[in-house]
Amino acid sequence: METFKNSFVQSIPEQLMPGVLYVSMERSVAIHLCACGCGNEVVTPLSPVDWQLQYDGEVISLYPSIGNWNFKCQSHYWIVENKIKWAGSWSKKQIDEGRNHHRSRRKKLESKKSDIPLKQNAPLTAEKERISMLRRILRFFGATH
Ligand SMILES: [Zn+2]
Repeated sequence: METFKNSFVQSIPEQLMPGVLYVSMERSVAIHLCACGCGNEVVTPLSPVDWQLQYDGEVISLYPSIGNWNFKCQSHYWIVENKIKWAGSWSKKQIDEGRNHHRSRRKKLESKKSDIPLKQNAPLTAEKERISMLRRILRFFGATH
């Protein structure tokens, strides 16, 4: 699998198709199955401190690269214009640096998020979806960090 199809969705389906990059602008998140084919779910929250998504009307690029260090596959790749660009394996030092960088970015994000009050009277389904999305994000970060 060397390219992704993009799929803009309101909420992320439970079952993901390989080779599809799901993007939910509403949830500010993109999800795909690891490009190596291992079947692991890769969750990339979209925010100034997580990943940035570039969409030109046709194809998507994600920045920075995606490093699945805690999956068995250790995949590391970029998604550039829907294409997978393999980044090759990193040394342990590079991985640690990347992790630390990401961890500090997460911290920033989490402290920012806790400032946002929960929306009152949010429809129950939306709230449920929000929680299940958060769970997926946590699961992903739990697995990879
Ligand atoms: Zn993989």
